Amino acid sequence: CGIVGYVGGQSAQGVVIEGLRRMEYRGYDSAGIALVSDGTLAVQKRAGKLANLEKAIDEVALPETTIGIGHTRWATHGAPNDVNAHPHVGAHGRLAVVHNGIIENFAALRKRIEDEGISVVSETDTEVAAHLLELQLESGEDLTTAMQRVCSRLEGAFTLVAVDALDPDRVVAARRNSPLVVGLGEGENFLGSDVAAFIEHTREALELGQDQVVTITRDGVQVTGFDGTPAEGSRYHVDWDLSA
Ligand code: GLU
Repeated sequence: CGIVGYVGGQSAQGVVIEGLRRMEYRGYDSAGIALVSDGTLAVQKRAGKLANLEKAIDEVALPETTIGIGHTRWATHGAPNDVNAHPHVGAHGRLAVVHNGIIENFAALRKRIEDEGISVVSETDTEVAAHLLELQLESGEDLTTAMQRVCSRLEGAFTLVAVDALDPDRVVAARRNSPLVVGLGEGENFLGSDVAAFIEHTREALELGQDQVVTITRDGVQVTGFDGTPAEGSRYHVDWDLSA
C-alpha cells in the first residue's frame, strides 16, 4: 500500500521507516524493510503496526547502510502474516522486492518457477516477481535490465521497487496502473508510491508514466520503457502543507 526506496548519504533505515510512517494514513496490515549491506540483504517484516516492525528491528539491530526499501501492505493475496509481508526475497537471498497492486498472472508464473525447482514460501502474488528478478540477475543482467524483462511478463497493476544485494548503488522501480514518484535530492534520491514517502527531504518530484522503469543512484535518475528505450517522467514541485 505504501512504498519507499532510498539511496543517498543518510541512514536508509531512518529514511525508510519515517517514509512508511508518513504513509500510515493510507491504511495497512503489515510492514517491512530491506537494506543492502556488504553484499547481503538485511530484511525484517512483521504483520501489524509499524511499531511491531520497529520492535523487531531493535532486537536484531540492522546494519548502518544508505540504501534500502520499505513497504506497508494491504493484503490482497494471502493472509496478513509475517511470511506474506513484504519485502519478498529471491530463493538465493540476493534480490528483495516490494509491491503495491495485483499481479494477475501470478499463478501461471508461479507454476513455471516451481517447475525450475524453486520453492515458493508465501501465498502472495508478489513473490513470483522476486524469483523472476533474481533469476534474471543470476543470468548476468543488471537490476535495471532485469526489471524491464520481468515487467514485460507481468499482467495487472503493480508498483515494484527492488534492490540487489550485489549492487549497493542502485534502487530500481517500475509501474503499471499503479502510482510511482521519484523524489529528487542532492546526493540522494527517493522513490515513493506517494510524495508523503519523501516530503520531509525534498519537494522536487518526478512522476513516472505508464509502463516505465526508473533507476535511482545517489547522483542520478534514469527512466526507460519496459523495452529499455529511454523515456522521461514529468517533473513537478510539491506545494503541500507539511502539517497535513
Ligand atoms: N498483492 C500484494 C499482496 O497481497 C500487494 C498488496 C499491496 O498493495 O499492499 O501482498
